Amino acid sequence: MLLGPPGAGKGTQAARLARPWHIPHISTGAMLREAVHSGTPLGLEVKAIIERGGLIDDGVITQVVRARLERPDAAAGFLLDGFPRTVPQGRALDEFLTDRAPLTVVEIALSETEILRRLAARMICSECGVNSQDDRDYANCIDCGGQLVPRVDDAEEVVRRRIEVYHQQTAPLVGYYEARPTYCRVEGSQLADQVTQEILKAVAQVRST
Ligand code: AMP
Repeated sequence: MLLGPPGAGKGTQAARLARPWHIPHISTGAMLREAVHSGTPLGLEVKAIIERGGLIDDGVITQVVRARLERPDAAAGFLLDGFPRTVPQGRALDEFLTDRAPLTVVEIALSETEILRRLAARMICSECGVNSQDDRDYANCIDCGGQLVPRVDDAEEVVRRRIEVYHQQTAPLVGYYEARPTYCRVEGSQLADQVTQEILKAVAQVRST
């Protein structure tokens, strides 16, 4: 599971790691954006909350994740990006994972100045919702060719709200997990390749103890 503030690079790193590990990359943000894009009942329920930079109700998002984790492709493992985001979500995940291998938690740390700088520059595909990869200057999505646009919730005032929400509701998860032997922390301000290498090293280390 990847934990960290908005813009820390969770999505970028999850996409890079899930492929060689042959496990699904489960991004709750991407699932919710897809629901909004397709106009499903869930999408209609969450659209305004996402646009304001708030969090979806714990019960609702936990149910969405639970249903996703029960699919056969997640039986041998999965990489969570954006969930859990509150301590109650963390508790629900622990409960769901009882009798499974312990959850490996990687915190990607990033300063507030760097968060603001990165999110101001971030682009997302208007078609498939994937973040444009790394810091490369593509005009179109490398996955589907769709047009890249800024994310509505990356507007500066929404980012400030998301950072506030992170400090109030998500950062307490650091305290919830950090005493576990399967917890590790990497510095997210480095180049994406370096962050990937550090995550691989840290995960190998905690999983061997
Ligand atoms: P992300 O792409 O992870 O930054 O998520 C985008 C937005 O989706 C967040 O700002 C929240 O509004 C919502 N969201 C994603 N994951 C969660 C979650 N685990 N709990 C509540 N809201 C979430």
